[in-house]
Amino acid sequence: MKALEIKDLVKRYPTGTEALKGVSLEIEQGEFFGLLGPNGAGKSTLIHCTTGLAQPTSGTIRVFGHDAVHHYEQARLAVGLAPQELNLDFFLTIEETLDFHGGYFGMPRRERRERAEELLVAFSLADKRHERTRFLSGGMKRRVILARALMHRPKLLILDEPTAGVDVELRLELWHYVQRINDEGTTVLLTTHYLEEAEQLCQRIAFINRGEIAA
Ligand code: ADP
Repeated sequence: MKALEIKDLVKRYPTGTEALKGVSLEIEQGEFFGLLGPNGAGKSTLIHCTTGLAQPTSGTIRVFGHDAVHHYEQARLAVGLAPQELNLDFFLTIEETLDFHGGYFGMPRRERRERAEELLVAFSLADKRHERTRFLSGGMKRRVILARALMHRPKLLILDEPTAGVDVELRLELWHYVQRINDEGTTVLLTTHYLEEAEQLCQRIAFINRGEIAA
């Protein structure tokens, strides 16, 4: 079984823009896969179709065997998403952020507490657990977003341009965390428009341009 299997995916927005023109790709379990392409290539659209934020026009997407449209719940449970924008709820503390996310994904209370503890330590956030996210540094916000994405123990982690607009030092720090997540067995799909980032981290890379896989 593949971690992600996309076949002939087409996405046409109501505006008429054909953002994906028949994309196919496969990601093996445990792989660190890069989707590299310029702005407007269709990377976010592919991620949105995979995570149920957009409806594919045609084609199929399977996440660990689960159809992303017809078996949305199982498919979505297998995915952790770290979006591009810093979409934290600024009124929540770090600990609440993790706990609420676990709740949305149906984790019982005890399991949420144990998992949150693990992640707070792994991402060096433990001593800030009661801090509201609005008061955190940019680097910490990024780390909270990563920890939140991993809260429900997804088998596939999707990172949508995690280092866009991030300075060099913080980029290296994030790479270190992401590398470790993959070393521990989580499959990773990274989208980026930085060739250097894809080269450094990924085992295989697909180039996407104007909604088509170019190489
Ligand atoms: P990338 O993530 O590679 O920058 P996107 O998937 O965001 O690319 O965009 C691919 C194309 O689809 C672009 O031409 C963009 O303008 C268009 N697009 C993205 N989202 C929408 C939307 N919600 N409605 C209409 N067009 C969209």
